Amino acid sequence: MYIIFLGAPGAGKGTQAATLARELNLVHIASGDLFRQALEQETELGIQAKSYMEKGMLVPDEITIRMVLERLSTPDCESGAILDGFPRNLKQAETLDQALVQQAKAIDKVVYIKVSDKELLRRLSERWVCPSCQAPYHTTDSPPRVRGRCDRCDSELQKRPDDTAEAIKKRLEVYFAQTAPLIDYYCQTGKLLEVDGEGSVDEVRRRVVSALHHGELAYPRL
Ligand code: AMP
Repeated sequence: MYIIFLGAPGAGKGTQAATLARELNLVHIASGDLFRQALEQETELGIQAKSYMEKGMLVPDEITIRMVLERLSTPDCESGAILDGFPRNLKQAETLDQALVQQAKAIDKVVYIKVSDKELLRRLSERWVCPSCQAPYHTTDSPPRVRGRCDRCDSELQKRPDDTAEAIKKRLEVYFAQTAPLIDYYCQTGKLLEVDGEGSVDEVRRRVVSALHHGELAYPRL
């Protein structure tokens, strides 16, 4: 089962994708997390991605596509995966479709999490992340149990370097210009499920589960 989470930066894709992946026992592939890990480990990939990420721009397709397809070709993805943050433009979406077809596989559903621009800005400007395990937090919506520390691994929480006002503006521009057209792309294939992303994490989770059920996906009961 291959499910894509689509939505603007700050829509809550990462949080919902991680929860669903745990519940369905599928691998969660977040392209942004893969880049941040590479950056932290100072690998060649991290060095290549750094300047684009800092500016809120997309990392070039050839780098991104190779990274995600490599991850998807590992044995733990054989039965499926939840993709979050990829694809982010038409070229990536088409390449992904072609790569899956070659393995007699296909995307099952695309969950589009819709959130107003005002709410996106509120969420992004109060967002914190664990640099070690990538767990996301929000000052008021989902604060850590101990202020400034990750619940899972106790690392010190940080602001993402691309959550500055300037980079947020750029990331939203990039999203509307390059990623939002994917809503139509997947709508035409009949795979798109639109979910209202406003409200608490749990409310949105329930809407995601219900959309997947009503989307007639052969989907295990949660
Ligand atoms: P995210 O954590 O999904 O917000 O991604 C953080 C940054 O990683 C983005 O602003 C891009 O610079 C880069 N990135 C993540 N996914 C992609 C992608 N599919 N294509 C190009 N760049 C990406």
